[in-house]
Amino acid sequence: MDQKVEPVSIDNPSVKLLLVVAVALVDIDNRILIAQRPEGKNLAGMWEFPGGKVDTGERPEQALIRELEEELGIQTWKSCLAPLTFASHAYEDFHLLMPLYICRRWEGVPQSKEGQALKWVRAGVLRDYPMPPADIPLIPPLIDLLGV
Ligand code: C5P
Repeated sequence: MDQKVEPVSIDNPSVKLLLVVAVALVDIDNRILIAQRPEGKNLAGMWEFPGGKVDTGERPEQALIRELEEELGIQTWKSCLAPLTFASHAYEDFHLLMPLYICRRWEGVPQSKEGQALKWVRAGVLRDYPMPPADIPLIPPLIDLLGV
């Protein structure tokens, strides 16, 4: 018997879900780019993987490509983005879902376009940088993939 499957809406009036996409840009020495959230932003001073909110009507990879252009002035493509893992974290006001992609190919040199400090670091030292609580569980899969 044919059964029609309806897509499930993530709009839920009791829990606000926020979809943010993040990426580990990995250079030829297996270092990862992290960015420091600037003054005036929530969680200012914390280090995070580049990315941002998925806008209405956007696909996650499209959002990441847009954010990389806006924040770092680099260009990449959907075929260069491989999903690795995701964060699921209950903040007080919303629940964050954040897929983390790996990207090793892009065009341009990452530059700070929005006042954020940037650093290339090995996965093994990520724990030395204060990160938002949602980002911390993303570190072990990066160490598994890239080593310390
Ligand atoms: O970057 P933006 O401020 O748009 O992200 C919205 C919220 O998502 C942040 O205030 C923060 O609570 C959370 N976030 C996070 N880790 C990131 C990016 C965002 O926990 N890497």
